Formats: sequence, C-alpha cells, structure tokens
Amino acid sequence: PIDEPPPKIALERGKLLQEVRKVLEGQGGDKKTVSLVVIGHVDAGKSTLMGRLLYELGRVDEKTRVANERGSSKAGKSSFSWAWELDGTIEERERGITMDIALQSLSTPQRQVTILDAPGHKDFIPNMISGAAQADCALLVVDAITGEFEAGFDRGGQTREHLLLVRSLGVSQVIVAVNKLDQVNWDPSRFEEICGLLRAFLVQSGFPSSKTSFVPVSAMLGVNLVNNADASVLSKWYKGPTLVDLLDKLEPPTREITSPLRLPISNVFKGQNSGTGVTGRICGGVVQVGERLRVLPGDESAIVRLIDVEEQSVPWAAAGTNAAVYLTSIDPIHLSIGSVLCPPSDIVPLATVFTARIIVFDIQLPITTGTSIELFHHSRDVPAMISKLIATLDRASGVVTKKNPRGTSAEVEISLRVGTLSGPTLSTRPIPLEPFSVNKDMGRILVRRGGETISAGIVLDIIS
Ligand code: GDP
Repeated sequence: PIDEPPPKIALERGKLLQEVRKVLEGQGGDKKTVSLVVIGHVDAGKSTLMGRLLYELGRVDEKTRVANERGSSKAGKSSFSWAWELDGTIEERERGITMDIALQSLSTPQRQVTILDAPGHKDFIPNMISGAAQADCALLVVDAITGEFEAGFDRGGQTREHLLLVRSLGVSQVIVAVNKLDQVNWDPSRFEEICGLLRAFLVQSGFPSSKTSFVPVSAMLGVNLVNNADASVLSKWYKGPTLVDLLDKLEPPTREITSPLRLPISNVFKGQNSGTGVTGRICGGVVQVGERLRVLPGDESAIVRLIDVEEQSVPWAAAGTNAAVYLTSIDPIHLSIGSVLCPPSDIVPLATVFTARIIVFDIQLPITTGTSIELFHHSRDVPAMISKLIATLDRASGVVTKKNPRGTSAEVEISLRVGTLSGPTLSTRPIPLEPFSVNKDMGRILVRRGGETISAGIVLDIIS
C-alpha cells in the first residue's frame, strides 16, 4: 500500500556497480546486440543482400522463399525474389523498392544484429534518417558493375550522401559490401579500385580507418555472405572474412553503467497499490529500489518503490534496459512524458539554447535563421526556433560552407522560444538535454515542422 514507509536502499553505489558488472558479465552467454543501418545507392542490392543473408542464416524458411519467388516472378520481377523478404508492403513490391525501415534481426555466432533496412530511393531519405538515428553501425552496399559504382558515387548518387548522413548522426563503424562481383567476373582489380576510392572518401568524411572494413560479395548468388569463398572463383584471390565474420565483430555500444542515471519518461501510469508507474529506456547509469530520484525539469523528487523489467520485479536496472519504475512520495502531477529521472547529486543539464549538428531533408521550405520548429527529444515535443546558422556541410564534398543548408548537414543554434527573430519572443520551459559526446541517447534530436519530421541530428553544446 502507498502509505507504507518507502523501501531502503540495499546496496551503496560502489557495491551496486560491482554487482551490476558481475551480473552483466555473467550474462556472457547472451549475445551482444548491435543495430545496423543498411545504406547505399538505389539498386546496389541492399534488399537482395539482406534477404539472402536472412535466408542463409535460417531466418527465412524454404516455404517462404519459394512463395516469395513465385510472388515476385508473377509480378515480372523475378530477380527481386530475395528482396521480397524485406520489402513488405504491396506498394513496395510493385515498385520494386524498399520504402520503410523494416525492422528485422539476425543472429551471428556472437551478435544479435537488429537491421534497420534503408531505402535506396531518393524520396525516402527521411525514413533512412530515422533508421540511422538509432544505428550503432552501417552496412554500405555498392554495385561493382562497371559504371554503376561510379553512378552511385558521383554527384547525385547516394553513396556519399548516405555515408555523410550516418556519420553526422554519430555512426562511425562501417562495413562496405562490394556487391555484384559476379557481374565483373570476380575481377580483383575492380574490387581494389572500388575499395581505394571509398577508403579515401571514408577517411576524409571522418570514419576512423580502424573501424571500416571491405568485403567482396555476390548477394544474388550468396557468395561470401555466410560461407567462405571456397568453391567460387573468388577463392582464387580472396582469403579474408565473410560478411557474417565482419558482422560478428561489430562493436556493441558501451552500456553507460558508471555514468549518472538518465531515465527519460516515455509513459506515466497509475500503479496498483504501488504508487505511480513510469516507463522508459535507461540511457545511462543504474537505478535501485529505495533510491531518491530527482525529476527534471522541476524541483520535485521521488522514491523508487519497485522496479519491473519484462514484468519481473528486480532490485535494480541498468543502462540499455526498458524498465517500469514505481515511484512514491511524489504527486503524479509532477511526472510527465519527456521528463528525466536522475540522481539529485548529478542532475541532467537543462537547456534553452544549444548547438546541434542536423541533417536537413529535402524540403520545400529551407531552414533559415528564425525558422520555427518543433523539437522532438525522446517522447517530448516542444516549440523552438533555429536562432543561428553556424555552418553548413556540403553533403557531396564534406566541405563546410555557409550557404543555404537545404538538403545538407548543418550546424545550427536552437533556442527554445516562440515568436519571430525580430519581434518579441517567448521562452518556453527548458528541457533536460545532454551533448551527444556525453551521452549518445540523451544527445539525439529530431526537428519537425507541421508535424512532419524535417531533420535529425545530435546535440553538440549546451549554451544556456
Ligand atoms: P536495392 O535498391 O539496393 O535494395 O537493390 P535490390 O536488392 O532491389 O537489387 C537491385 C537489382 O540488383 C535486382 O535486380 C537484384 O536482383 C540485382 N542484384 C542484387 N545483388 C546482385 C548480385 O550480387 N549479382 C547480380 N548479378 N545481381 C544482383
């Protein structure tokens, strides 16, 4: 019952962290999870590659494959049969392109890989952004066919653009699958030529070379995806890892256990006899039953009565977990979606003005100084304004310029106020925010206008 005295803390912080580490390490049998966004020029073979990979790894049974094959040859696009698995909706199937981020996952010996499939068509960049904004790593698929790689890599192609987009959103690990090598007679010099061009561009765009790798494949024939190139012509010159070998080595994001607790509230509900419940994904630190937590923004605090993870009651929960936390000693009126729970001794900064690096999608009205926007951070939506354009990054060359940022990556200052730049403005309530460099999950934002997502980005610095 609510009027019971609140529970006591079981472990002091040092002991708690020790225990959390021990338990997480003990789960060593559990595969580490990474999320992957698949990028590349239209028709490079992204869907075919992922469909074939899922099949080879046993995710697609033979019955589904045959059905897909039949379905796709009926539609007169039999070469698309592998892509069928990922390209879900009727409209996608008829147009033969992937439109949505199809959430799938595959399992390699040491990793559970969540696939955020990216569309290759120009119109669908906003979908890709929302995928990339959640990704730990990128898989770039390029077409090795003479002239096709070049078409995707030159100006107007999406290869450079996608790479710059994911880099701007904080992704630094990338695997490059050089696809359709069957179409160039498995020519090693073509593979090397493509690697050379991409290697230079990747370094120039800020991808550390230690985190980039290249793999020759044929998605269509299933060569060098799961099994080594033994039987194929490729084995004459290629002795390196398969695509799955590389996926298996992707670095999972670090769980920010030792950082201060950050729990953005995504839902508030009335708990039965246990106070008010809030749910959310823990973005940093550990929460323990009995702890007093501050609720930001505001001056209120609450005590943790119970924690549920996957409907099981637990004594603590750590970063990376979705948890339901029941709070007492607080009026539920002070708990709202988008607020952040944190330790009273280490509160999350509140921001009204901050700088961000954002990617502006192709939109009718370009973003300029004074543009009114809606800022979306976790589950919170607040009115804001682009108060300054600091620099824009030409997406094709990676060069910082100061021109119109439409369709480009830009550094901007965002202010939480409404009104016009020249006229009077009204400040809105500050929101809890952290730079991406401090906490990745707390430092990602979406920019919307008229309810439509027009841009995504990361927080650079909090000004005030
Ligand atoms: P996406 O737009 O990047 O998703 O590309 P798709 O997966 O839809 O593939 C585009 C076309 O390339 C389809 O006709 C595929 O059958 C074909 N394709 C994909 N991978 C290969 C490959 O390894 N070899 C050959 N020859 N064709 C391929």
